[in-house]
Amino acid sequence: MSKILLLPGDGIGPEVAVEIERVIAVLNRDFGLGAEIEHDLLGGVSIDAHGVPLTDAALAKARASDAVIMGAVGGPKWAKVDYAIRPEQGLLNLRSGLGLYANLRPALCYAALADASTLKREVIEGLDIVIVRELIGGVYFGHPRGIETLPDGQRRGVNTQVYTTSEIVRIARSAFELARQRSGKVCSAEKANVMESGLLWREEVTRLHDAEYPDIALTHMYADNCAMQLVRAPKQFDVIVTDNLFGDILSDAAAMLTGSLGMLPSAALGEPGKPGLYEPIHGSAPDIAGKGVANPCAAILSLAMALRLQLGRADLADKVEAAVGKALDDGYRTADLIGEGEVKRVGTTGMGEAIAERLA
Ligand code: NAD
Repeated sequence: MSKILLLPGDGIGPEVAVEIERVIAVLNRDFGLGAEIEHDLLGGVSIDAHGVPLTDAALAKARASDAVIMGAVGGPKWAKVDYAIRPEQGLLNLRSGLGLYANLRPALCYAALADASTLKREVIEGLDIVIVRELIGGVYFGHPRGIETLPDGQRRGVNTQVYTTSEIVRIARSAFELARQRSGKVCSAEKANVMESGLLWREEVTRLHDAEYPDIALTHMYADNCAMQLVRAPKQFDVIVTDNLFGDILSDAAAMLTGSLGMLPSAALGEPGKPGLYEPIHGSAPDIAGKGVANPCAAILSLAMALRLQLGRADLADKVEAAVGKALDDGYRTADLIGEGEVKRVGTTGMGEAIAERLA
């Protein structure tokens, strides 16, 4: 019996979370998954109920679960709340509270959606890559940082890019382990040509590779070239591992190769054996919240990532991903997905049902 903590959150979060539950129900009924779902509050709904975006009790529940799946947080209702207790802060607290240092963002292009990308069909059709981004180090966290006023009256902004051996090794290990479950290829992206932290990154990744992962085909690429290659010929990659800043940018670029935000799942992982956080990359979409039109695919595909990476059920992850692909092949489209010819326009529930039926 595995325990999944579901944190639906705000806006469209609860709407897509219902579809995650629908799929879990089918997996329990037809495939013996044996998952038990618990619920708690995260984000604005938690602020409304408890005054904070993540309670200690909710964090404890997350730590005690096998996997945590969330919908989305945030919205205009909480835009004026103090920074320290914003809905988004709840998510940051959850990530740091669970020690989640590896962000995995797949970019997968379903054949039925190949025309939704701004790139040509032949460049992205069949694309299946993962960006592994370091999530809790680097320039977003390094010290010194801040804005100061100099004696001559100018202002100076400072951030510090900093990585240690252990931070690099653990994220590189995540990438190599993932690559072993895929095609066995890792590309490491940094700026070793102009940054000492990049040089250290390259040396440590290489050292770990030579010592423990000689079976993996490792290449190195400067991050700027990697950005160019991602839009030129993305299918050359399988797993890309990179730091927090470059990963932020490269993963957004990769995400858009595949069309809609509503299709993209992600995972944030910590130490092996500890619960990871699985979430669609989209936000709470206040513009469409409550209308029943949100695309639940990213949320359902986040569940598939949890099955594969956390719950030891890669077989069921394959089935869920195939069911999403089949629903798209059969013409089901939420409003965010373009459709040509005979498409079946559906809302959140309709898409969830189409996927659940194909899974059953
Ligand atoms: P967003 O991802 O919520 O929405 C961007 C656009 O994409 C909107 O037009 C929205 O309608 C559309 N969209 C998003 N998900 C969709 C889906 N599943 N189906 C159909 N259309 C979808 O980003 P935003 O508007 O910049 O942010 C809204 C709120 O969400 C903010 O409060 C922001 O801080 C928060 N946010 C939360 C997360 C998270 O919870 N992980 C991530 C990003 C943004």
